[in-house]
Amino acid sequence: MNAGHRPVIIAANWKMNTTPLDAAQLANDIAAATDVPGVIRVICPPYVSLESVARALANTEVSVGVQNVHSEPFGAFTGEISAPMVVMFATWSICGHSERRRDHAEDDALIGRKLLRCAEFGLRPILCVGEQLDERQAGRAEETVRRQLELTLAEVRRVGAVLPDDLVVAYEPVWAIGTGLTARGSDASVMAQLIRRTLGDGGVSEGAAQVPVLYGGSVTSATIDEFLAEPDIDGALVGGASLKVDEMAGIVARAGMTAAARWAGTQRR
Ligand code: PEP
Repeated sequence: MNAGHRPVIIAANWKMNTTPLDAAQLANDIAAATDVPGVIRVICPPYVSLESVARALANTEVSVGVQNVHSEPFGAFTGEISAPMVVMFATWSICGHSERRRDHAEDDALIGRKLLRCAEFGLRPILCVGEQLDERQAGRAEETVRRQLELTLAEVRRVGAVLPDDLVVAYEPVWAIGTGLTARGSDASVMAQLIRRTLGDGGVSEGAAQVPVLYGGSVTSATIDEFLAEPDIDGALVGGASLKVDEMAGIVARAGMTAAARWAGTQRR
């Protein structure tokens, strides 16, 4: 399997930024500035801005995502938001972001159940994995990411299910998120290969090579090239820079070059 058949995806994670008053305008401006053929664009605003952002993007090709969903569909979970509550507005969901693992003690098994809930309600999941700085420094980055995936896969198997076939994985080294530090493109590429191999070993044998793997961690218009130059990387999950229209324009423009090159590659075959 080569990269030619995988889509190029740029997903914006706005985290806990914007208000319903300014989110729609920002979404609108980003959509207009990033209208590049061949790139799948997703914006994940805070929940309270979902409706206004969905309206703003209704006549564009930009999709709306959420930053998280609960693992249960309904119930006594005060303050939580579930997949069936958001499907009117969103078609994607981030799952297992490191800030949720850190602040809400989300573990790999719980994240596995969230992936399945996404599949049940038609949300395309972006599963985030990545190592801490001390794990990379100790030479255990690959072991960490493999373990995260294996534990998630084990939970999916435990409940008698299979991973969603539209799964996207984001490799996000935790030390690179919001820090201005980035991984090396070559390291991210090694990790993308490991991710597909682990999914393949874990029973996604048919589709593992097709799973898009994004890089996330302080991506900007100045650093995106490092990652998209790697054939194993299929796009980016962008945090801080995704709040800036010019940055998103630059990132998606670079992604458009990769999409065009892949398309040309498939035509030559
Ligand atoms: C993220 O939130 O997933 C992320 C990668 O953030 P940042 O780009 O700000 O590092």
